[in-house]
Amino acid sequence: MVKGGLTTRGPRNLLRQIREAMAGGGPAQQRLDKVVRTIAQSMVAEVCSIYLRRASGELELFATQGLNPEAVHNTRLRPGEGLVGEVARLAAPISLSDAPNHPSFSYRPETGEDPFHAFLGAPLLRGGRAIGVLVVQNRVARRYDEDEVEDIQTIAMVLAETVASGELLGQDELRDVEVAPHRPERLKGQKFADGLAYGAVVQHEAPLPPERLLADDTALEERRLAESLTALKASIDQMLEGGQTKLGGTSYEVLETYRMFADDRGWNRSLEEAVRSGLTAEAAVDRVRNEHRARFAKARDPYIRERLHDFEDLANRLLRVLAGDDPTHRNLPDGFILVARNLGPADLLEYPRDKLRGLLLEEGSSASHAAIVARALQIPCVGRLQGLRDRLSEGDLVIVDGETGEAYLRPRPDMLAAVQSRMAMREQRRAEFDLLRDTPAVTRDGTRITLLTNAGLAVDLENLDMTGAEGIGLFRTEFQFMVSDELPKLNTQTALYRLVMDAARDRPVTFRTLDIGGDKVLPYLDNEREENPALGRRAIRLGLDRPALLRMQLRALLAAAAGRELRVMFPMIATVDEFRAARELVERECDWAQRRGRTLPSRLRVGAMVECPSLLWHLDALLPLTDFVSIGTNDLLQYMFAADRTNPLVSDRYDPLSVPALRALAEIQQKCADTATPVSVCGELAGRPLEAFALIALGYTSLSAPAGGVGPVKRMILSADIPQARRGLEGLMKSSAGSVRNEIEALARKLNLAV
Ligand code: PEP
Ligand code: MG
Repeated sequence: MVKGGLTTRGPRNLLRQIREAMAGGGPAQQRLDKVVRTIAQSMVAEVCSIYLRRASGELELFATQGLNPEAVHNTRLRPGEGLVGEVARLAAPISLSDAPNHPSFSYRPETGEDPFHAFLGAPLLRGGRAIGVLVVQNRVARRYDEDEVEDIQTIAMVLAETVASGELLGQDELRDVEVAPHRPERLKGQKFADGLAYGAVVQHEAPLPPERLLADDTALEERRLAESLTALKASIDQMLEGGQTKLGGTSYEVLETYRMFADDRGWNRSLEEAVRSGLTAEAAVDRVRNEHRARFAKARDPYIRERLHDFEDLANRLLRVLAGDDPTHRNLPDGFILVARNLGPADLLEYPRDKLRGLLLEEGSSASHAAIVARALQIPCVGRLQGLRDRLSEGDLVIVDGETGEAYLRPRPDMLAAVQSRMAMREQRRAEFDLLRDTPAVTRDGTRITLLTNAGLAVDLENLDMTGAEGIGLFRTEFQFMVSDELPKLNTQTALYRLVMDAARDRPVTFRTLDIGGDKVLPYLDNEREENPALGRRAIRLGLDRPALLRMQLRALLAAAAGRELRVMFPMIATVDEFRAARELVERECDWAQRRGRTLPSRLRVGAMVECPSLLWHLDALLPLTDFVSIGTNDLLQYMFAADRTNPLVSDRYDPLSVPALRALAEIQQKCADTATPVSVCGELAGRPLEAFALIALGYTSLSAPAGGVGPVKRMILSADIPQARRGLEGLMKSSAGSVRNEIEALARKLNLAV
């Protein structure tokens, strides 16, 4: 019996020969023929064939040693057809000693393969997709051993990378081969940050350049792998013990899963074997990751798919350790679009702002870190784009449509032109808003509206001057915590608050205390997992349960505001007692500061956010205790309509422009007016012209909008007449319809409103 395979461990020499064959010049077909000849010889196989996936999905025989040469480019197998199709479908190797007797065997007379009994096929994987199949066959019924199966996978990986990089086939041949997707595609996702952008794809998880696949010195690569695995495990342990590492943005539970996987013998062994077979440490990680992807991608069970993500994250972290942990050393093109599965708290800020145009995510939610930072940076972002990374290659042209929540991959020129003209229009509109920057927001009937903006990061401060907002109506202090790897220290918090007040100069800033919990998880606060995080220990509930956290923040705020006005408000107040307890903490902190002779704020204003429907029926008790209130319509409405704002299946099931929402808002406004309590609206509603129109018609005179909404809302205000608007809205408040959006739109049109 022929004992095939590679005599010494690992296909190192073979890989080198393959590379030489590929680099040897000459027509692509000649090079491919040489590659299959080399593999057949080296593996002592009578047959070696390469099949590649055509755009139609069929696997076409591209080169063979041992089968009938006439079959090359003629034999095509449908996905799943024959053993070759089966290897591609499973995206896993198949090894058989008696192939013709296997139920999947499909005999193609033109190939003349009937005399070959032993079959070993491995998929050419790219990003978890089989782009082709590499097969060796032997005449005698023999069993390929584990090493041979391992080796053919390594060879298949190198082939996959070289085919995809265009090294093996010419661009002409590549065009019709589905090694990398090349047709225009449109993916529907979710809007995470408004705006439009286009540019070349940069993958957050950078693909390996083919010249980094093969090791020059295997012993060195083994050492590098072992060292980086040790470093990876140590950093996870350190994180678990609460020390500081670069693994931010990861919950305790996920970290434990990481550690479990990092210790996984199977994973470690696969990596070691891949290196021993001649790959670099990076290529080994990539190969094992691809195999995992391919295997897990078919799983229906969301739990298993989640585990794939953990494995992928782990692989990415290992790659980063290997790369010296410097994601920014890459050569990034101007005006690129970043593509990632998801991004951790600090990831986005590590990319150069002047080159980054947009962000596409496979997952995430609009409340996720990346989305928050993208909005702060005013970079359009679309998330929840399924299959995104498998459909894109580094350098592909993409359009990020943050207006509709879509991504256009490799757009046709007319698509691109259409987007460019929309971008020009946006630019023009922005220029118009710029002209209004210093115009006071006064309605036609002479009502002065205070137009503020929402902020949360230092990068937001630019927007204050740019938009001409009169102050910050909502400063989300948790953002600093969310983009940090560890609990921000007292002086770090103080420094940010001081920076914000300095930037605001004499304009008011309302700081909201930490709104953490729910979906805003801080990895370094070991919170218990909750079944219903939105209804869980969020915001002020956490602050009151862990007063040290809240007191530290209040201390920082008082220190930053020394000698100036300080406005603080508490999120998610559901009962009057919670507000009392929170206010009491402020007083205690003031006493503490005073005892130490610190300068106190010149004026202190303490307010509550109205976000829990319960407060609507206890405003009479609450309002006398507060200096002001601010309505967080995002939460108020999610709780009123029992629709999770982060869940795309339900988040837009109700319309804020509906009678129950408007009645609730009308009632709060009325009660505040009756008690002369200053009130503003700081949810997203306040930044949308039509919704803001309804708000001013209800009598609100203070709105805090996201930066992008300030200009459009001001333009609406300048064109509005409040008595007219109020009369128009009054009738609609009795409607029995689920939504009165159309009617309000019609009213706005009738009143010639600029919405
Ligand atoms: C809100 O709930 O409307 C609000 C402004 O707060 P956040 O969006 O930060 O929860
Ligand atoms: Mg809220």
